Amino acid sequence: MPDFRYLDGEFHCESVPFRKIAEAVGTPCYVYSHARLVRQFRSFDAAFKDVPHITAYAIKANSNIAVLRLLAQEGAGADIVSGGELYRALQAGLMPQRIVFAGVGKTDEEIGYALHSDILMFNVESPAELLAIDRVAGELKTHARVALRINPDIDPKTHPYISTGLKKSKFGISAERAVDEFKLATTLKNIEIVGVHKHIGSQLMHVSPYVESLKKILDLVEQLKGIGVEIRYLNVGGGLGITYQDEIPPQPEDLAQAISPLLKDLKCVLIFEPGRSIVGNAGVLLIKVLYQQANPDKTFLIVDAAMNDLIRPSLYGAYHEIKPVQEAREKAKRKVLVDVVGPVCESGDFLAKDRMMPLGDPGDLLAVMSAGAYGFSMASNYNSRLRIPEVLVRDREIHVIRAREEYPDLIRGETIPAFLK
Ligand SMILES: *Cc1c(COP(=O)(O)O)cnc(C)c1O
Repeated sequence: MPDFRYLDGEFHCESVPFRKIAEAVGTPCYVYSHARLVRQFRSFDAAFKDVPHITAYAIKANSNIAVLRLLAQEGAGADIVSGGELYRALQAGLMPQRIVFAGVGKTDEEIGYALHSDILMFNVESPAELLAIDRVAGELKTHARVALRINPDIDPKTHPYISTGLKKSKFGISAERAVDEFKLATTLKNIEIVGVHKHIGSQLMHVSPYVESLKKILDLVEQLKGIGVEIRYLNVGGGLGITYQDEIPPQPEDLAQAISPLLKDLKCVLIFEPGRSIVGNAGVLLIKVLYQQANPDKTFLIVDAAMNDLIRPSLYGAYHEIKPVQEAREKAKRKVLVDVVGPVCESGDFLAKDRMMPLGDPGDLLAVMSAGAYGFSMASNYNSRLRIPEVLVRDREIHVIRAREEYPDLIRGETIPAFLK
């Protein structure tokens, strides 16, 4: 069964018409397909079944605890980048022994929380951080397992905002300095070196940067053997791209085929950190047309979702396909050049620019496709807009996995000081 398709004239998620979801929870809302989530995870995990590995789902892509629970039940681990994500992971039932912690700015509190939780390892991004982890571990009378994140200086050929493996980026330790940093790590009492980590970027469309960077990392693993450091975990990061428009991204099997010859004699557990490729195509942002506005130069379709709900178009100029929920609209011959914009008071507030689309009427429902990754997880309350619900569809069932916020949620934690009372 396709996860998103037209059936009896209406666009469906699994066996539920989007119209029904709009009736049940209102718009805008995020809608995720259970079947698609499961399938994406399984196909990724199965591609590497011949090598010992952990598929550590990158929580930042979509961090709803129902999604995390579902992936935990499928055997996922987690890649986290904050104490908040660790909290979510533990609440959702992800096993600490499968959690890895990345990020350039871990605080003492976050390091302590992760040590208390006995996570698998820290992916360390700088020498200063290494010293901090050693110190906090000492204070807590424990030791920390770490991997050093290496910046292999490989161009992943993706959007600059989501490139992370170039020399000029803030992530990781340069390949030239890596051996010295590992040497430093061996002198620290509360540090146990267990791995090497890399992550070169996101929405990758080719496996070659993966392969090249892996070769660099494998050279390093050899060098490390020379100085008596045995690497047990090799973390190759995330980054596989998905289809937003007509891109043809590499599949997990392509990646497996490309890298497995390099791994033949390696006695390491591999760690993967896929985010977008697991959840991206499993989610849709369901929105409603509010108004049409035709200016002399341009036609605008004003909808009820905005950049605060889905920031990717504004932030990266990202493309998201937009499908009318009524099939008759989809099939309409007449298409018009429109900008699909939200109510936020910013010119950068758009979901689509210069798009040829059938012109919708007020009240029409639209599905913004491929919104499962970096959608809700990047949402904000800008313009004091309520954050929208998330819905998990499982065959015929509609499960609200995050309620729509209400006005009191907006001011929770705010206070008016006494002198103003
Ligand atoms: C963001 C991130 C990922 C996930 O990237 P995707 O492109 O969503 O697969 C994995 N690892 C690290 C360290 C990240 O920062």
